Amino acid sequence: MKSNSVNASIITIGDELLIGQTIDTNSAFIAQELNKIGVWVRRRLAVGDVYEEIWQALDEESRQSDIIIITGGLGPTADDITKPLLCKYFGGKLVVNEEVLAHVNYLFEKVFRRPGPMLERNLKQAEVPDVCTVLHNARGTAPGMLFKRDGKVFISLPGVPHEMKGLIVNEVVPYLLSAFKMPAIVHKTAFTAGQGESMIAELLKDFEPSLPSHIKLAYLPNYGMVKLRLTSRGDKKEEVEKEMIPYFEKLQELVKDFLITNEDEGLEIVIGKILKAKSKTMGTAESCTGGYIAHLITSVSGSSAYYKGSVVSYANEIKENILGVKKETLLSVGAVSEETVKEMVNGAISKLNVDFALATSGIMGPDGGTDDKPVGTVWIAAGNKEKVDTLKLNLRFDRQRNIGMTATNALNFLRKFILANS
Ligand code: AMP
Ligand code: MG
Repeated sequence: MKSNSVNASIITIGDELLIGQTIDTNSAFIAQELNKIGVWVRRRLAVGDVYEEIWQALDEESRQSDIIIITGGLGPTADDITKPLLCKYFGGKLVVNEEVLAHVNYLFEKVFRRPGPMLERNLKQAEVPDVCTVLHNARGTAPGMLFKRDGKVFISLPGVPHEMKGLIVNEVVPYLLSAFKMPAIVHKTAFTAGQGESMIAELLKDFEPSLPSHIKLAYLPNYGMVKLRLTSRGDKKEEVEKEMIPYFEKLQELVKDFLITNEDEGLEIVIGKILKAKSKTMGTAESCTGGYIAHLITSVSGSSAYYKGSVVSYANEIKENILGVKKETLLSVGAVSEETVKEMVNGAISKLNVDFALATSGIMGPDGGTDDKPVGTVWIAAGNKEKVDTLKLNLRFDRQRNIGMTATNALNFLRKFILANS
């Protein structure tokens, strides 16, 4: 189901992006929003606050893309040069836009409430090239600007993520939908856990070549999970979706032993859905993950319906005094042990008064390893009042990744426990 496509390039501007000081989250957000409406982002690039570089990027991207979205370089400081550059690029001159001026005045008087007269450089935010259409930035002083040339659309947005997002959702997306006839882009995503990317690829080795050329399969491994995404394009969304159904079903069938969900959602969401459906509650007792699992679970809106809380029992004293782990256990087999995590689960079930509890204890590194318990040794336990199951991991990564891997494995272990024991 091939179709004509509408292509875009995203150019992010700022030296901070090139030196790695700021992570470019803008282009990820823009790409997602464009994708939803059927715009294919063919290239993303970051350039410094350098006149020639920005100019060249505009030239190059507009040769191939229908839409060029630029973020950054619109601030009131001298390092931000995007606006005068765009003015020159499109052959205009800077003029005060009365609506933007009124908005800037309003923000300073009523929202920021800054005493004293407004600075010249803030007033300059109201100047725009007379060859652009102004896009209203409700969240800040720098307006968005839209230019057209040779059938191509150029849109310049501020770099501040919160402002950029407002402009994309309220101004850019509605404009693009009215200006272009969009093809449909459809993604279907399945999540697997507990098996590496290469093993999953083995399971799919005959499936992949069987796909029509316009349906693409992508592998996205992350912290012990592998996201499998099928992407297709066509003219009508319903038709593209219908054509994908048998392929997506086949994909799920082939990876069924490791399949967690057929939606684009993390384990914390999957567990929440299971607990909600069963009207059960859970809690956590975290040592080596230090509350990270609690953070993941509570990042889901509505999690208070099934998640009661956590004991971050990092010190042995807390494991003992609050969770009731026995002193003998800690002395004889240590905090990183099967017995300890079992007792942590039992303690959490009674202290937090929950149906299910999950516990972690391990050595995340880089220090703290011993010969019999090297860095990366982790014990996980999941249980209810009747029963506690355990799992040992031998991880081999840096501290941050060890914590992430422990959390993923623990959540998946709990997911399986709940499904098998309720
Ligand atoms: P600017 O419009 O260049 O003044 O950008 C303002 C601020 O937005 C910068 O200081 C960065 O912290 C942030 N920012 C700019 N570009 C990006 C980007 N691509 N992704 C995330 N944050 C950004
Ligand atoms: Mg900047």
